[in-house]
Amino acid sequence: MSNVLRNIPSVNELLESPPLRRLANFANRTTVVSGVRHFLDNLRQEVQNAAAEVDLPTPTELAERIARWIAAEETPNLRPVINATGILLHTGLGRAPMASAALDALVDVARGYASVEVDVASGQRSQRVADVERILKRLTGAEAAAVVNNNAGATLLTLAALASGREVIVSRGQLVEIGGSYRLPEVMEFSGARLREVGTTNKTRAEDYRAAIGPQTAALMRVHTSNFAIVGFTEQTSLADLVELGRRHEVAVIDDIGSGALHDFGVYGVEGEPMVGESLRAGADVVLFSGDKLLGGPQCGIILGRKQYIDSIRRHPLMRALRVDKLTLTALFETLRLHQSRERAEQAIPLLELLSTPAANLQNRAERLAPQMAACSAIAAAEAIAATTYLGGGSVPMQEIVTWCIALRPASGSLDGLAKALRNGTPSVFGRIQKDRLLLDLRSVFPRQDLELVEAVRRLGTAAPETDSAEPPVSDSPGDHIVEG
Ligand SMILES: *Cc1c(COP(=O)(O)O)cnc(C)c1O
Repeated sequence: MSNVLRNIPSVNELLESPPLRRLANFANRTTVVSGVRHFLDNLRQEVQNAAAEVDLPTPTELAERIARWIAAEETPNLRPVINATGILLHTGLGRAPMASAALDALVDVARGYASVEVDVASGQRSQRVADVERILKRLTGAEAAAVVNNNAGATLLTLAALASGREVIVSRGQLVEIGGSYRLPEVMEFSGARLREVGTTNKTRAEDYRAAIGPQTAALMRVHTSNFAIVGFTEQTSLADLVELGRRHEVAVIDDIGSGALHDFGVYGVEGEPMVGESLRAGADVVLFSGDKLLGGPQCGIILGRKQYIDSIRRHPLMRALRVDKLTLTALFETLRLHQSRERAEQAIPLLELLSTPAANLQNRAERLAPQMAACSAIAAAEAIAATTYLGGGSVPMQEIVTWCIALRPASGSLDGLAKALRNGTPSVFGRIQKDRLLLDLRSVFPRQDLELVEAVRRLGTAAPETDSAEPPVSDSPGDHIVEG
C-alpha cells in the first residue's frame, strides 16, 4: 500500500506535464496548483481506504485525468445553451431570452451608479418603480403598479397585504401546482390568508362563490390554469361574474393570469391566453403575472390594479423583502417600451421573434441544415421534418405550435447518449427525444445559431468519449418540458 503512495507523482512533476501546463496557460495557475493538490489528496485517501492494492494510472494518464477534472470543476453548470427543445418558455432553460435593448440598458446601469431612488430633476427621493409604473399604466390602463421578484412573490405579497387572517375564495379547479415548487395553497398558507375552496374540480359556478362569501371573506381569486386543461363537462365562473359578486359584497377580485400577454397570441396559434388589459377592463381589482413568460422580459412578478390596493401592497413589509433591483427594473422598462407597438415587439423581443417566424422559414432552414448534419460522423441519418411544439411555462398544454425539426439518428450508441453528448458539447445543445429520433427543433433556435448547431453536431465525431456520469439537469422527455411552468 505505502508503495503505491510512494509512486504517486509529486505536485511539481505533475505541473510540468503537458496537459497541466496547457491548462495553466488559460486557467489561473493558482487554480491549477490547488486543483492538483486537491486531486492528489483524494487519490491518497482512496489508496489508503482501498481494501486491495490499487492500480495507479501512468503519470501521463494521471495528468490528463487531473486536467479534465479541473477543467470540469472550473466550468459552471449555468452557461449559455442552444435551446433546440422547441419549448419557447422552458423554465429549466431560463424561460424568455431578453431583448438587446434591455441588455444594453442593463449593462449601462450595472457598470456604474444609477439614479435608482433619486429623482434626477429635483434631487429628491423617488420611487424606484416610477418609470416602469408609468409605462405599465399606459400599456394596460391600470391605475397603479408594483413589481416584485416573481409571480409567486406577487401572489404571496398580494394575499398577505389584502387578506391576511381572512378568507380567499378559490375554485377547486384552479388550485394549481407549477414547476414542481409553486403550489397556490402553500403560498396562500404562508401569506396568512385562509383558503376557502369552492365548487368541484371540473365545475365551479358563480353560486358556489356567492354561497361562500361571508364576513371573513377578503377576496375572490381566479387563477389561470397554466399547465393543464380539464376537458369534458367543465364550467368555470367568468371574471365578469366574479367582479359583479365582488362589487356587490365589497370584496377584492384578484386575477392571477400567469403569463401576462400584452398582445393577442391567437395569431401565433396560442389561443385562450388571458390578456392583461382585458382582465383589468373586466374589472379585476388586482392582476398578477410573470415578467419572463409571454412578456419576454426579466424574471419578475408584476402587480397591477386599483390604486387603493396597490398602495396597501406597496406599504406591506414583505414588499421590501421581495423588491427587484435596478437591473430588473431597467430591463423591464426597455422590454415594455418595445411592446408599445406589436411590429416593434415582434422584431425586437426574442420570444415574439421566435413565435412569429413563419413555418416556411423554419422549413427552409431545417432542409438546409439536415444534409450538413447527415454528413457528420456521429450521425447516421438527419432529416428535416414538420412537427408540433408547445409554448411551455404558462400556456395550456393542448396548444400546439407548428414547427420544423432536424431529426437525428446516431451512428452508434443510444439516443440518450447522443442527447447527452450534445448537452455536454460546445456550445451545449438541448434537443428533445421523440420516438426513435433526437429532434433539434428550430422553433426555439435563433437563425444566428444555425451554424453553431451544425458545428456542435460535427464536433461530436471528434470529442473524447464522455466519462462523466452526472445526471442531466433537465429531463429529455418532452412531457416534462410541457408540464413545467
Ligand atoms: C407561472 C405562474 C406562476 C408562477 O410564476 P413565477 O414567476 O414563476 O413565480 C403563478 N401562477 C400562474 C398562473 C403561473 O402561470
